[in-house]
Amino acid sequence: MNLFDLSGRVAIVTGGNGGIGLGMAKGLAMAGAAVIVAARNREKSEAADAELAGLGGRGAFVPLDVADAASCRSMVAASAERFGRLDILVNNAGMSIRKPPESYTVEEWRRVLDTNLTGALVCCQAAYPHMQRQGGGKIVNIGSMMAIFGAAYAAAYSASKGAIVQLSKSLATAWAKDNIQVNAVLPGWIDTELTRDARQQVPGLNERILNRTPAGRWGRPDDLAGIAVFLGGPASDFVTGAAIPIDGGFSAEF
Ligand code: NDP
Repeated sequence: MNLFDLSGRVAIVTGGNGGIGLGMAKGLAMAGAAVIVAARNREKSEAADAELAGLGGRGAFVPLDVADAASCRSMVAASAERFGRLDILVNNAGMSIRKPPESYTVEEWRRVLDTNLTGALVCCQAAYPHMQRQGGGKIVNIGSMMAIFGAAYAAAYSASKGAIVQLSKSLATAWAKDNIQVNAVLPGWIDTELTRDARQQVPGLNERILNRTPAGRWGRPDDLAGIAVFLGGPASDFVTGAAIPIDGGFSAEF
């Protein structure tokens, strides 16, 4: 058996139309999986779908607003119906509202938590019966360095990312009996639209990241491709409830 072969497997990547999600989707497609890109922006998603098709993957775009529970449920149902099965769910869609903690409105706080945490839970709940029926599955939840560290401008975001790690552990223990592995990935500082905004909004961030990252560079979305293949396939069948940093050593150094 090739431990890294995902032929015949069907994957959903939320927020798979750009940044880290597309980096992971490309890894899954190159390993042979059919990848469903689930996001809001149709144009960007169709372009990502075309890029994945160029790598040999048969995939699709299925619209999703992850902050809306009904949308999560119908996205998973439509994906499973279209491809006849569901093997891998990558909960990657996410956003941040950067401001001092004392100034969040409850609506802003909820928007971050609904998008980064509650949406992931609802997608997991919707995927569970499909994976259970098939005899197993793989769930990969995207955390952050903010699951380990805090930041003055990221109270809501870091609360959501800390929680996604604990959610992953709880789902891992609950669903191990169903042969469903649930793990979290903690990306370091990766060059995407999200961090390009942060670099503009947070003075000195770029220099701090470069100085603080032992690898001496920002990560690239493609740096996440390998972990997606590992956690999405048989190579990780005894790995569950883990939170794995992919960070060029950022979290390893004091
Ligand atoms: P991007 O901003 O490039 O991508 C975010 C993705 O999430 C987009 O595809 C977007 O698609 C999707 N998305 C956002 N809101 C929603 C929504 N309501 N419904 C459906 N999809 C949504 O950011 P990154 O690639 O950097 O981030 C991806 C994940 O990685 C996030 O969870 C982020 O927190 C995490 N992360 C990023 C790090 C980094 O350094 N870049 C570090 C650690 C974690 P659309 O707008 O079309 O809906």
